[in-house]
Amino acid sequence: MSDSDQVKKIDHARVKALVTELLEAIGEDPTREGLIETPRRIANFWREFIEYDAGKLDTTFSAVKHNQMVAVTGVKVWSMCEHHMLPFWCDLSIAYIAEEKVLGLSKFARIAHKHAHKLTLQEQLVSDVANELKEILETENVAVMAKGEHLCMTMRGIKTPHRMISTALSGKFHQSEQRMESVSYTHLTLPTNREV
Ligand code: ZN
Repeated sequence: MSDSDQVKKIDHARVKALVTELLEAIGEDPTREGLIETPRRIANFWREFIEYDAGKLDTTFSAVKHNQMVAVTGVKVWSMCEHHMLPFWCDLSIAYIAEEKVLGLSKFARIAHKHAHKLTLQEQLVSDVANELKEILETENVAVMAKGEHLCMTMRGIKTPHRMISTALSGKFHQSEQRMESVSYTHLTLPTNREV
């Protein structure tokens, strides 16, 4: 396990104090009934978000058939945009071509959640998930696609609901035919109008 895989710890007391200060700075009274527990709740949220433990990620099995594509779609995660510290969600489609190893099904979700539980961007998220899969499966043949909505665009700024698509394709998925197949597959299988 590398250092970057260690679960980070937050300074809960400091987050609480900062939220109290934030409430004051936006003209609120942090001692009023509705807000009295808010700093603690928000500090609890950050603890839950940052100290997320994805569990065991690398349970693999021997591949039954070589050169077979395995894809898992509709893996929904919530994350937090590092530019605005506002939430975004995305549905991930994750595919790889099995060589020696195949990955346990729940591990796709664990890997996706692990990389979503930090301040990040959707582009970074797909790339982090792809890199982790490459390392575990010892293959370059990995594709990760995400379609998401970012509250920093929906509830602020241009205030427009949208879907953003980002991809991380490598190995055989870079080759045009495979690329077309994987991209069209994603378009077909990802919901286009799911409400959150
Ligand atoms: Zn943003």
